[in-house]
Amino acid sequence: TSGILAGKRGLVMGLANNRSIAWGIAKAARDAGAELAFTYQGESLEKRVRPLALELDGAVLGHCDVTDPASLDATFSEIERIWGTLDFVVHCVAFSDKDQLTGRYVDTSAENFNNTLLVSCYSFTAVAQRAEKLMPNGGSMLTLTYYGAEKWMPHYNVMGVAKAALEASVRYLAADLGGSNIRINAISAGPIKTLAASGIGDFRYILKWNEYNAPLRRSVTIEEVGESAAFLLSPMSRGITGEILHVDAGYHIVGMKNPAAPDI
Ligand code: NAD
Repeated sequence: TSGILAGKRGLVMGLANNRSIAWGIAKAARDAGAELAFTYQGESLEKRVRPLALELDGAVLGHCDVTDPASLDATFSEIERIWGTLDFVVHCVAFSDKDQLTGRYVDTSAENFNNTLLVSCYSFTAVAQRAEKLMPNGGSMLTLTYYGAEKWMPHYNVMGVAKAALEASVRYLAADLGGSNIRINAISAGPIKTLAASGIGDFRYILKWNEYNAPLRRSVTIEEVGESAAFLLSPMSRGITGEILHVDAGYHIVGMKNPAAPDI
């Protein structure tokens, strides 16, 4: 990734700790030469996020709750104040009530459906609205999705529905903003053990299943997702928009269990 993001400035949203996908992306982006700014959700995350941000010489913009328009406005005003313009945004944010990431999708409540879609899908559009104004010379925006958007997965439930909507929104945003040379893409990451993933029922089983059945016979790391992200954020991918790039050790091409895979 040497130098592909030199001179670029980017906002990273969704860093919680050093297992976060946002951390893998931030490390790769910094390694590629980018200057970074971070937001985090809630003051309790500050003590984790601040040292990580400083490790990458990043600016800490403070708390930002993506469901709160005033909080988003404050974040983007701060970016305008410190940088004037912005080259890329990384959106690594999702949430659903843990109690509904197990059992049946059909039992999802309206309240949790709305909140899951608001945090995990609409927030990317809300971010794009604000980031667009700071990208007069074009830019790249990236979000994170999962294969549960395309196919049924056990326990993923309403989050799968939210990711399907998020992937559709990537296409609509790409068409809206393409004329301004702003590109919108998503990475569909294979399962990785993070804080958010631990909320999904039986996550260990999902991880093992992927390891045994993916063409590369393993799971992916946040570093691998990070390096693919650096590519999508950089001019190296300037001909790509509206794309959902699978960084999943090839799992999404598989149609049947690998007969050689052990039982889990
Ligand atoms: P994580 O827990 O490290 O990150 C999730 C982040 O979302 C946290 O930083 C949390 O603070 C933030 N967040 C939740 N609600 C928010 C709100 N209202 N306002 C602001 N921030 C909020 O977990 P992760 O796995 O790194 O998740 C990052 C993204 O990757 C998510 O979109 C997730 O769905 C996606 N993803 C994860 C996996 C996986 O297996 N871990 C696979 C594919 C996609």
